[in-house]
Amino acid sequence: GKDWIIKGEKCWSTNAKWSSHVVVHAMTDPKSKPGHRTTCFIVPMDDPNVSYQEMAGKDLWSQSSTGSIAFDDVRVSGDAILGKENEGFKVMAQSLNGGRLFIAGMSLASLAFALDKCRTYSQEREQFGVPIGTFQRVQDVIIDMDITLEQGLTWLIDLTNRYDNDTLDRESAAKVKIECSRRASDHLTMAMEICGGVSSLDEFGLIRHHRDLFVCRVGEGSNFALKGFAARPLMPDITLQ
Ligand SMILES: Cc1cc2nc3c(=O)[nH]c(=O)nc-3n(C[C@H](O)[C@H](O)[C@H](O)COP(=O)(O)OP(=O)(O)OC[C@H]3O[C@@H](n4cnc5c(N)ncnc54)[C@H](O)[C@@H]3O)c2cc1C
Repeated sequence: GKDWIIKGEKCWSTNAKWSSHVVVHAMTDPKSKPGHRTTCFIVPMDDPNVSYQEMAGKDLWSQSSTGSIAFDDVRVSGDAILGKENEGFKVMAQSLNGGRLFIAGMSLASLAFALDKCRTYSQEREQFGVPIGTFQRVQDVIIDMDITLEQGLTWLIDLTNRYDNDTLDRESAAKVKIECSRRASDHLTMAMEICGGVSSLDEFGLIRHHRDLFVCRVGEGSNFALKGFAARPLMPDITLQ
């Protein structure tokens, strides 16, 4: 088949620094109808025309790399296509569904971590002669975290099964990502209140999860943008024309 030349740059690329290959979602037929204009290519990172530049100064997700990949007339053959020519959107849509479930799972993991911290701290820490966990206001925060965690896990497990069965719709994946990331973020703020000043110390862990949850809200499609997308089927007369 024919060869393709890829030109462009992709910033905000997580962990590309350590990847042997990346999937490039490139415009291949701009005049075609929406959803049929792009193709996914598997490109080796050691191609001489591929270069990587780390983006400096990130103050969260410290365990990951974040950088920009430049493609300077990279030649690939038709064999490098993932899926079908001009059907790249389908490939991306499916991988974004999985990515959004993954982000929801990460958000719940941060919430579970915070719940454990709060349970331990509020049983050990005494004020006015009693463990702070005996105060109803503290119990209120802890049980709300537990309820959210159980709700989120139940929902996420159901959607993960649907993903495995190929029956997961894009709106459901977006909604669980929005809800788990925003609820976990709100609870992390409250968890830091419960654990007091020690929450501000890196080694205690809460502040790191609080920071990292920002990526869960903004990454894999920002929650604000995804809300607009997920709301469309609810108002089909004005949004799906
Ligand atoms: C640590 C980190 C790692 C990342 N890794 C990756 C990666 O591996 N791959 C990748 O592709 N991206 C990655 N991103 C990028 C991330 O997906 C984007 O930052 C995110 O999609 C928001 O895009 P933007 O930064 O261009 O914000 P902008 O487009 O400037 O938007 C800013 C804000 O405007 C609002 N907004 C924008 N559009 C709409 C809309 N249509 N409706 C309503 N509100 C809207 C939202 O609140 C949004 O957060 C990463 C980001 C970070 C911080």
